[in-house]
Amino acid sequence: MPKKKIYDFSISATSLVIFQTCPMQWAYKYLFKPIIVKVPQRHMVLGNALHTLMQHYYHRWEELEWKKTWLIDSWEDCYKHHFLKAKLPISNSEIISGKEHLDWLHGALEKQGWLKPAFQVKDKSGIEYSFKFPYNGHTDFIVDIIGKIDLLQKNSVIDVIDWKSGSNQGNIIDDVASSTQLLIYSAALKKVLDINEENLYLVYIYLHEIRKFTVGNELFKLIVQQVNALLDAYAVQEYQCIKGKHCQYCDYKIICKAETSQRI
Ligand code: SF4
Repeated sequence: MPKKKIYDFSISATSLVIFQTCPMQWAYKYLFKPIIVKVPQRHMVLGNALHTLMQHYYHRWEELEWKKTWLIDSWEDCYKHHFLKAKLPISNSEIISGKEHLDWLHGALEKQGWLKPAFQVKDKSGIEYSFKFPYNGHTDFIVDIIGKIDLLQKNSVIDVIDWKSGSNQGNIIDDVASSTQLLIYSAALKKVLDINEENLYLVYIYLHEIRKFTVGNELFKLIVQQVNALLDAYAVQEYQCIKGKHCQYCDYKIICKAETSQRI
């Protein structure tokens, strides 16, 4: 049987995570694309504000004398800029907890020399790495896996880094080792750079903690299962609604039958 080409989309780590959360949400976002008014989500605006500030900070890493003060002092302005632009109310407690986090992170990065170069553009050991590789684990489709990674390369060892600004640390820590996003990134590195699992680490930077994990071969099998589940659903055009806390952040809750039927 000739292979079918899945029309014009590729699978990214983000799309796979959305599919796992709720296949119907994935179908709305990537297939049906209904026109809806999207309301900015607080946690996303907060994450963007932190990322923007950290990006400036990392680029000025060499200027050791002033950067901690600059980081803490700049947070409030950066936070307000992002929230006013998104037309969301300002929260003083978010400003205060952001300052505490940045203070901690500055100290942690000073202590953990191995992490610094990951964010230095001048030093090429820390780079944003774009990848694209074919996925050959399904008999009916030809699909590309795509994405971008922050990574740190030291000799033959590679750290794949993800920065977590969310407050829900407990659950993330429990299942970090099977994180779809980081496994996809690791699979990309394994495939594109021909790196062995033993030289790959997943690094999560949380609000008050940095955690580092190894990647086992068994975990890569999870990716195959997850991508196949997505392709199987696509082949029969059946998308399950999975309801949960995540529905409050879903852009499609206004039109989702699972959500609207409950409200009636
Ligand atoms: S509202 Fe909930 S059930 Fe409906 S599509 Fe969104 S995430 Fe899925």
